[in-house]
Amino acid sequence: MDFTFSEREEMLRKAVREFAENEIPPKMEAMEETGDFPEELLKPMAEVGITGVITPAEYGGVGLGYVARTIVLEELGRVCSAMPMAMQVHHMGCAVLNDFGTDAQKEKYLTPLAKGETMGCVAVTDPSGGSDVIGMKTSAELKGDKYILNGRKCFITNSHTSDYWVVIAKTGEGPKGISAFIVDKDAPGAKAARKENKFGLRGANTGELAFDNCEVPKENLLGQEGGGLGVAIKTISETGRTGMAATALGILTAVYEEAGKFASERVLYGKPISALQAIQFYMAEIYSQLEICRLLCYRASWLKDQGMRCDNEGALAKYYTCEAAVNAAKTAIEIHGSYGIMREYAVQRLFRDAMVTVPAGGTKEIAKVVLARAALAPFKK
Ligand SMILES: Cc1cc2nc3c(=O)[nH]c(=O)nc-3n(C[C@H](O)[C@H](O)[C@H](O)COP(=O)(O)OP(=O)(O)OC[C@H]3O[C@@H](n4cnc5c(N)ncnc54)[C@H](O)[C@@H]3O)c2cc1C
Repeated sequence: MDFTFSEREEMLRKAVREFAENEIPPKMEAMEETGDFPEELLKPMAEVGITGVITPAEYGGVGLGYVARTIVLEELGRVCSAMPMAMQVHHMGCAVLNDFGTDAQKEKYLTPLAKGETMGCVAVTDPSGGSDVIGMKTSAELKGDKYILNGRKCFITNSHTSDYWVVIAKTGEGPKGISAFIVDKDAPGAKAARKENKFGLRGANTGELAFDNCEVPKENLLGQEGGGLGVAIKTISETGRTGMAATALGILTAVYEEAGKFASERVLYGKPISALQAIQFYMAEIYSQLEICRLLCYRASWLKDQGMRCDNEGALAKYYTCEAAVNAAKTAIEIHGSYGIMREYAVQRLFRDAMVTVPAGGTKEIAKVVLARAALAPFKK
């Protein structure tokens, strides 16, 4: 077992940290205010290797893999939680094309994603089928050489900043009646509709995609007709959950740093409050959660890089790290006393951001369904 990062990974961490600390803070107030993602940062992020971290070099990426991706997301999240949220879904958009796209689809759609020319998004959730993916109503019907899509997707990350969307829709009944499509945002009948007004992760836009007799060329079917559930499950469980876990890990890192800094600077009774055992215990809790979550997140990513199964480990990392980020942020607010609930202090934003990670990419109850299956598998008769 080797817990060290390679020299290349360490260099990537340094480069992303430098980028994040210099380029993101000037954008954060506007992100928080408007809920818009700063698209002008996409190209510079591509240069550092952020947008194309998991995409192979032949499609414009740097092909460093999932451990490297976790480094990227953790470092971005240490500065601004909305950035890894947007980027992790962007990476889902890359992964789904890389795993299921034809050469022509990869050339046309994956390469610009890796190069930061547009953003990726994967639209599974619709109003009638959140956790119940098969319950979705968005439909696609083949008519001549086009699929006609009707329906609505909701809570889609990067909905308003992506030029094309990977959309999961019904082409029949049951688990084999679901297919995946690449939909151009300018396709007739396609529209990025309502933009949600979230209380956290505000700079990562979330919204609806609407399809009204939307025409999608037959060649934009991704994978096989009827194979869409497999496309969705692989992408969510391998790239989505490890990505949400890493997003929450970034928040946890920021929480730890903010809490530590405040505890060392706030003076009461003539000493920093870090001299009080109650505050030391709070810091011990936050630190323990951060260390545990780092292990969980990097293990799940490492498994993915080895080509091994990481669905249970991804669900565990996602569930545990999102919960830990919420709890740690609450503790950090308590360490701050009343300052913690004031807008000037980052911990209140980190708490809101952490709360938003909980349902995104699958709720904690759904993670427990996955984990219960894993826990009981050895006892199955
Ligand atoms: C910030 C954010 C970004 C998102 N980005 C995307 C995206 O890019 N693409 C995308 O497709 N979706 C995205 N989503 C949607 C997200 O994946 C769904 O919201 C999530 O899967 C839950 O669906 P739901 O909200 O409809 O809740 P529901 O499925 O309606 O769940 C309601 C409650 O019932 C519980 N429940 C449901 N089924 C079970 C069960 N079998 N056992 C026990 N409890 C259960 C849930 O855990 C929850 O507590 C995003 C959501 C958020 C908040």
